[in-house]
Amino acid sequence: MVGQFDTHDVFNQAPPLEGYDVFAADRALGEAVDREGAAWARPELGTLGLLAGSAGAQELGRLANEHGPALHTHDRYGHRIDVVEYHPAYHDLMRVSLAHGLHAGPWSDPRAGAQVARAAKVIVWYQVDAGHICPVSMTYAVVPALRHQPEVAAVWEPMICSTIYDPANLPIAQKAGATCGMALTEKQGGSDVRSNTTRAEPVASGSDGSYRLTGHKWFCSAPMSDGFLMLAQAPGGISCFLAPRWRPDGTRNPIRIQRLKDKLGDRSNASSEIELLGAWAQLIGEEGRGVRTIIEMVNHTRLDCVLGSTAIMRQGVAQATWHATHRAVFGKPLAEQPLMANVLADLALESEAATASALRLARSYEAPAGDEHENLLQRLLTPIFKYWTCKRAPEHAAEALECLGGNGFVEESPMARVFRQSPVNGVWEGSGNVICLDVLRALTREPDALEAYWSEVAQADSGDARLARAIDDLHVDLSEPETLEPRARSVVERMAVVFQASLLVRFAPEPVADAFCASRLGGARAGAFGTLPAGTDNAAIVARHAPI
Ligand SMILES: Cc1cc2nc3c(=O)[nH]c(=O)nc-3n(C[C@H](O)[C@H](O)[C@H](O)COP(=O)(O)OP(=O)(O)OC[C@H]3O[C@@H](n4cnc5c(N)ncnc54)[C@H](O)[C@@H]3O)c2cc1C
Repeated sequence: MVGQFDTHDVFNQAPPLEGYDVFAADRALGEAVDREGAAWARPELGTLGLLAGSAGAQELGRLANEHGPALHTHDRYGHRIDVVEYHPAYHDLMRVSLAHGLHAGPWSDPRAGAQVARAAKVIVWYQVDAGHICPVSMTYAVVPALRHQPEVAAVWEPMICSTIYDPANLPIAQKAGATCGMALTEKQGGSDVRSNTTRAEPVASGSDGSYRLTGHKWFCSAPMSDGFLMLAQAPGGISCFLAPRWRPDGTRNPIRIQRLKDKLGDRSNASSEIELLGAWAQLIGEEGRGVRTIIEMVNHTRLDCVLGSTAIMRQGVAQATWHATHRAVFGKPLAEQPLMANVLADLALESEAATASALRLARSYEAPAGDEHENLLQRLLTPIFKYWTCKRAPEHAAEALECLGGNGFVEESPMARVFRQSPVNGVWEGSGNVICLDVLRALTREPDALEAYWSEVAQADSGDARLARAIDDLHVDLSEPETLEPRARSVVERMAVVFQASLLVRFAPEPVADAFCASRLGGARAGAFGTLPAGTDNAAIVARHAPI
């Protein structure tokens, strides 16, 4: 009989969390989708949500990580081939992502709400496997940068917008769709990309304005992508280039994959070191303006770091509440033990705040160039939430894992993978300090962005006295710009929390908003999750966030 051993029966173990709709189960996400203008996407989100919650998809995620990518530098005759081989599960995951437009939906169908719809899809599907979302995200993010060079965009954008995943290692002219990556980071510095030493030399004989890139890149994820945006030192200064895997004449571009990184997490995704041996590349934007051009891509991948960390927190809440509902300790369900209820509710609050702010941020990415308020908001909120959401994710994942006890710490539990993934969004696309310094840069260079921020949070300040006081305190914090740099982390954290509180006060159920303000404003934040004040309606908060 199933479950029966020679010495004992198996009981009091939670069943696996599967066979449910990941989207429908996430009430906070559904409400944010409606609020931010993407209610029309609910049917497709439901389809993706059901798929994400299926045992089959969860298995794909496990397989793609268990059997990670392998690099083959040479064929059996000794020819250089530079091919990364993936498990079929990885390709299946990519296929779903592209079919649902996670890589390009807002570019191929830019209707109102498209960025929000895509953001929600990323949050849902990331919970199956985070690693393959890296190439999906880079493919999405490359488009705004490519548009700086319209004739190049005219060739690549239709290929990028294809919903067909075509992993064939062929020139794009022979393919049904294309994916893209980026290679900025070099050994001597990733944050300081102006220190890049890769050289770009114009091809003297070329009439196509092409360049040859020579140098190395220390991190290049998804090296089987069809094209990569790179920075290199051109005669006119650091510039942005598109280097395809195959040259237009159908020969392989000399981009050598030296080795794959052996990473803490993100294991389904190949991250490589590459060498450029005079690789053919096209200039994107103006020579000498490479940082300004690539920042268009970086901002969109930063948005995706926020979405990824939001997904990590949602997955943690779903797994922890599910386990605690099905596990009994000392005579009653774990979820009903008062101290565990406090932990679960606190984790849920963080997840809901992250979800609300992530989707509000995604909406700002839809703004037309003339919508100054939304553009300013996007400029400031992107680094604020890149910093804070990514900072919260590892702490959150560790606590959610602990809710499952020993079962959370074994590799068979999804939480082990979630935990190992959780720090990565904080590292890439600008690590914590760099991002906080970017907030300060935005405050200095675009003072109106702060006005846009104040006008947003002011919409809630009469709703909660604690929030009104926190806004006043923040005004004082920001009033001494000359001392801001060493205080940047604490100020950015408070800007994030105040903004999140304002969204929850305006839109979340009263127990959620009340508990968030009570536990996170006015210096109330304690060190660990599970420290909500007495009187918090933990049961109501947990019930709202239970996955089924
Ligand atoms: C899994 C993974 C995949 C990646 N994939 C890619 C990829 O595809 N393409 C790519 O280009 N890169 C990629 N990266 C690289 C990543 O973007 C860099 O690691 C990151 O930008 C940091 O650069 P660095 O490692 O050189 O660290 P550094 O730049 O040396 O920074 C080290 C630390 O110093 C801090 N710091 C830097 N400047 C300051 C300052 N002025 N004041 C205070 N603190 C500061 C940073 O916040 C950071 O904490 C990947 C990284 C990982 C982990």
